[in-house]
Amino acid sequence: MPNPTPRARRSAWRPCPRAPRSRWTPSPGVRAADAAARAGRMELKAPLTTLKGVGPAVAERLQRLGLAEVQDLLFHLPLRFEDRTRLTPIRALRPGLSALFEGCVTHSEVVHRRRRMLVVTLADHQAQILLRFFHFGANQQRRLAPGVRVRAFGEPRGLPGALECVHPEVQAVGATPPAMETHLTPIYPATEGVSQRLLRQLVAAALPGLRGLPDLLPELAAEGLPDLHTALERLHQPPAQAHTLEPADTAAERGPARTRLALEELCAHQLARVQQSRTPRNHCDAPVIQPPGKLWAQLLEQLPFSPTGAQSRVIAEILADLARTTPMNRLVQGDVGSGKTLVAVAAALAAAEAGYQVAFMAPTELLARQHGRNLAQWLEPLGVTVAWLGGRQGAAERGQLLAALAAGQRQVAIGTHALFQDEVQFQRLGLAIIDEQHRFGVHQRMALRDKGNGRMPHQLIMTATPIPRTLAMALYAELASSVIDERPPGRTPVRTALISHERRDEVIERIRAACGSGTQAYWVCPLVEDSEQLEAESAEATAERLREALPELTIGLAHGRMKGPERDAVMERFRAGGIDLLVATTVIEVGVDVPNASLMIIENAERMGLSQLHQLRGRVGRGASASACVLLYRPPLGETARERLEAMRRTDDGFEIAEVDLKLRGPGELLGTRQTGDRSFRVADWGRDQDLLDAATRLALRVESDAPRAGALIERWLGSATRYATVG
Ligand code: ADP
Ligand code: MG
Repeated sequence: MPNPTPRARRSAWRPCPRAPRSRWTPSPGVRAADAAARAGRMELKAPLTTLKGVGPAVAERLQRLGLAEVQDLLFHLPLRFEDRTRLTPIRALRPGLSALFEGCVTHSEVVHRRRRMLVVTLADHQAQILLRFFHFGANQQRRLAPGVRVRAFGEPRGLPGALECVHPEVQAVGATPPAMETHLTPIYPATEGVSQRLLRQLVAAALPGLRGLPDLLPELAAEGLPDLHTALERLHQPPAQAHTLEPADTAAERGPARTRLALEELCAHQLARVQQSRTPRNHCDAPVIQPPGKLWAQLLEQLPFSPTGAQSRVIAEILADLARTTPMNRLVQGDVGSGKTLVAVAAALAAAEAGYQVAFMAPTELLARQHGRNLAQWLEPLGVTVAWLGGRQGAAERGQLLAALAAGQRQVAIGTHALFQDEVQFQRLGLAIIDEQHRFGVHQRMALRDKGNGRMPHQLIMTATPIPRTLAMALYAELASSVIDERPPGRTPVRTALISHERRDEVIERIRAACGSGTQAYWVCPLVEDSEQLEAESAEATAERLREALPELTIGLAHGRMKGPERDAVMERFRAGGIDLLVATTVIEVGVDVPNASLMIIENAERMGLSQLHQLRGRVGRGASASACVLLYRPPLGETARERLEAMRRTDDGFEIAEVDLKLRGPGELLGTRQTGDRSFRVADWGRDQDLLDAATRLALRVESDAPRAGALIERWLGSATRYATVG
C-alpha cells in the first residue's frame, strides 16, 4: 500500500485519549448517525419497505440480492459502469462496447423471418447502424418512423462498418435535446423483476443515509485509501471519466474505493472467524453417522460402473469425518466430470441410513432440477425419499413439501440456496451438501447451525474450481480438503481451437458437417453480466441468424428468461436428440449432461472467465466420440486475453486452468463472474483480492481486542447471517 501522506496521517483514526486504549470511540460519523436517528432522518436499519416504491413483492425480490435493510443498498456495489455522459459518433462505435449514439431514422421496416422484428436504420452524417427489435408495439414503431431523430444506448455487434444493435434503449430527441448524465451510470447486480432503474432509484434514496454510517476503519485513510463515505459515494456515483484520471472502479478492475471496502470486508470475516472459533464447541456437536453401509452396497450393485480409485478414497475420507462428533467441514475439489455427484450420494446415503436428513444445494435452479432428477433415479429405488424444492412450485405443493421436511418424512431435500431460508425447517438435518460452490464464507455455517436444531450438521462442499492454497490457509483454516484427481475411464479429450469471429462462416460449415453426421452441438452466446434480458435477446438474434444459415438443422434455444418448464422441454428435446444445435446462454454452464453432444462453439470467449470456459467445455467430451470446442473471439485480442485462451487450448486440467486464471487475472480483463446467489462476500473476490489478505489479517489482529468495534464490523458485513444464527 502507498505510504501515508502527512495529510492523511493527521486525519487517521486514533483512540480518544481519555478512553481505554482498547475501546472504540464513536467517530464523528456515529455521532452524526445518532443525531440523524433522533432527527428521524434516514434510518439505515429500516427494512426496504420503508422506501418509496418498495412493496412486499419487490422487497421479496430484493431479498434475493441480499438486500433487506436500507443500509444493504449502500453496500450493493455496481458491477461496472456505462458512460452516458457523452455521445459517440456512429462511425466510432465498436462491436462489444456499449455506447450512447444519436442519429436520424432513415429506414424502418417490419420484417418476417421466423419471427417478426422491427429493423431500423439509424444514420448520422458519416455512418449508419441497424437497430433490431423483437418486442415492439405500434407506438414504438411510430416513435422510430423515418425522419425522427433518436438517441440510443446499446451494445453494437457485427463488423465495423456493418454494425447492428439488438434492442437498444431509445429516446426521441426533440427540439431541446435530453440532458446528458453527469455521472457514469452504475450497473448493479440485478435479478428477475428488479430493474437497473429501480436499483438506481433505491440507491439514490439511500445515499443520504451515508452520513449516518460510521467509518469503522479510519486508520485506512493513513494508508492512502479513501474514507468509507468517499469510497461508497465514488462507487455509486463516479464522476464522468473525461474529468478524472482514475480508472473506473468495477467488479473486475479494483480501484482505491473498492480496495478500501474489500479490506474492511475481509477484516470483518477474519474477525468473525476468530470469534466463531472461540465459541464453545459443545454447543454444536454434530451427529455421529456410522451406518452399516447397506444402502451404498445396494447402489453399487445397481450402477453400470464402479467408482474410480479417487472417488473411493474421497468417500472413505468423508465417511471417517461423518463418524465423529466434530462437524465435518470438507471441501471436495474435482475437475468437471470427475464424478463428484457420486461422492456426494455416498455421503447422503450414509446420513439417510443413520436416520438423518440431507440438504443438497445447487447453485442454479437448472442444476438443482437436474440433480433432483438424477438423485431420485439413484436413491428412490433404495427407498430413500427425495424432495425437490424449486422456486416455481405452487404454494400448495411447496407447503406440503416443507411440512414433510419439517416432520422428517423426506430424507433428502434438493434446491438452490433457498434451502437456507427461514421457512425451510428440518426435523433431523445431519448433512448439508453444497455443490459447485466457488466461495466459502462463514455465512453458511452460521445458517446451518440454525437448521440443525442445536446440532451442527456436517458440511460437504464440492467445487470444480480449486481455491488457491494461500487463501485457503488464511480464510478457511478449518476447511479440510479432498481431491478427486482421476477421471472416469473411457473419456476422449476435447480438442480446442481458437478462431476469430471473422471466420464464423467456416465454423457454421463445421456445424453443418458435424450435425449432418448425427452428432449434436451447442452454440453458447456471450455473457451479459447484468442483464438476463439483453442476454436472452442476443441469444434469440443468434438463433435467428443460425436458422437462416443452417435451414436443414433443427435449432433450439435455451436462455435464462425462458419459463422453467419451457426451458426444460427444450433441454429434454436436446437430450432426446430432437434438436441438432442448441443455442444457449451460459445457463448450460454447470452440470448439464448430454453425451451425444460433441461440438461446442463459444462466442466471445475472450469475455468469459477461464473457469467458466472450462465448465462450459466440460459439457462436451462426455460420450465416447471425439469432441471439439471452438472458442470464437473478436479481434484484436490483447496479450493477456490471448494467453488465457491459449491456456484453454493447451490443457483441459481444471486445476492448471485455475492457476493460469489467477495469475493472469489482472486489471482490464473482463471476467465472467456472474452472481449465482452465492454471495459469501459482498465486495471482496477471492481471485481478485488475494493480495489484500495479509493487510486484512493484520487489521483484524489490531481491531480484535477492541470488542465494540470488532462487533460493529462483524454486524456490518455478516450481520444478517449472525442474526440468523441466533434466531430459534
Ligand atoms: P462432476 O464432477 O462434474 O459433478 P458428475 O458427477 O456429473 O461430474 O459425473 C459426470 C458423469 O460421469 C456422470 O454421467 C456420471 O454418472 C459419470 N460417472 C461418475 N463416476 C463414474 C465412474 N466411476 N465411472 C464412469 N462414469 C462415472
Ligand atoms: Mg457436478
